[in-house]
Amino acid sequence: MEHCVVVGAGLAGLNTAVALRNQGYSERITLLGAEPCPPYDRPPLSKELLRGEVDDTTLPADWSALEVDCRWGVAATGLDESAVRTAVGPVPCDGVVVATGAAPVRLPGDGPQRTLRSIDDARQLRAALRPGARLAIVGAGWIGAEVATEARRLGCQVTVVEAADWPLAGALPAEVASRCAHWWAAADVDLRVGAKVAAVRTGGLELTDGSVVEADEVLCAVGVRPRVDWLADSGLAFACGGIEVDDRLAARPGVCAVGDVAAWPSTRYGRRLRVEHWDTALRAPAVAAATLLGGAETYDPVPYVWSEQFGRYTQYVGMHDDTDELVWRGDPDADAAWAACWLSGDTVRAVFTVDRPRDAMQARKVAERGQRVDRQLLADPAVPVKRAVVD
Ligand code: FAD
Repeated sequence: MEHCVVVGAGLAGLNTAVALRNQGYSERITLLGAEPCPPYDRPPLSKELLRGEVDDTTLPADWSALEVDCRWGVAATGLDESAVRTAVGPVPCDGVVVATGAAPVRLPGDGPQRTLRSIDDARQLRAALRPGARLAIVGAGWIGAEVATEARRLGCQVTVVEAADWPLAGALPAEVASRCAHWWAAADVDLRVGAKVAAVRTGGLELTDGSVVEADEVLCAVGVRPRVDWLADSGLAFACGGIEVDDRLAARPGVCAVGDVAAWPSTRYGRRLRVEHWDTALRAPAVAAATLLGGAETYDPVPYVWSEQFGRYTQYVGMHDDTDELVWRGDPDADAAWAACWLSGDTVRAVFTVDRPRDAMQARKVAERGQRVDRQLLADPAVPVKRAVVD
């Protein structure tokens, strides 16, 4: 490989350039980024940045040591056999890593609506969260919960409209998520579950039952779609809404995909996964770099996400199915800190923790190793998760 073009300058794109250099690649690297700025971190956008604790989340990078040709504000418009097309001309190359991330879904309707993906979105949202402002958030997922938290802290009146019957429905089943619903009420957030938005109108939301939620600001937080539109005529295959890659993250010889955009076959979970979490963008690039450089490393992680909501630190490790057995660590109705664990037979498939970060980290290692656990010990919050291992 004489010239590798990395498309997308987020965490996954930056880490790909770093991984290529760390693995000894000394030829040309070009990093194309649609945004007019160097890579920045997104998790603080719904946390520290809204709180006013930071205003700049630029990721640290030693650009001169990396010797990367950085092209900010240049979007890729297509992928040919031996070039990436851009509005300012083709960039010839013999290696490509696609790291174009995802874009927020928007709701129908002619009223003004915000989404939260870029640092500009976050700065503008922060300016709009004035004390007393009525904020309607559509979607009670991770981002909806975090923005509701910060908006209440800033003195806004917050209504959250969620189509599912409980919050965090994309990640958690009812019996676990229902144990979190009181957090919203305690923060004085008006959480309306089982409510569907028909359209965003000037002055608020129109729901499908004909009712209206009046609001000064509307934030749509109903999920994202991978940015693959520019690859329509590339010949690449798509899966789970993103780019179909093999277990080495290759979409075809010489082309890899990483981060929010990549859908890989997981042997561990028996299905193809596409995971929109920070940790995926952090770790997948090393495997993609190895693949392009002729290595044989495979990618099959235990996914991980954290969230800070309503004064709590939550983490979800792994991936559970409806058929997995639920084991509680602690009493979610009585204890401030607790965890829910899912077991398949004697092995840990997933763990959701509330203010028990050590449990999450230990459970991740146990799940990665596929170790068997004693469910009685696992259920005892006084016993460290790693001590529940029986292997
Ligand atoms: P992105 O960060 O989306 O970067 C992709 C980049 O590619 C973008 O800069 C984009 O402009 C650029 N691009 C797109 N198309 C093109 C093109 N055609 N040509 C060139 N460039 C292009 N995850 C957690 O695990 N925990 C959290 O607490 C958490 N909080 C979050 C809070 C917010 C507000 C957001 C938005 C996300 C959060 N996430 C969190 C998710 C996490 O940030 C993402 O999973 C991660 O940023 C994905 O990285 P990425 O590099 O794959 O994609």
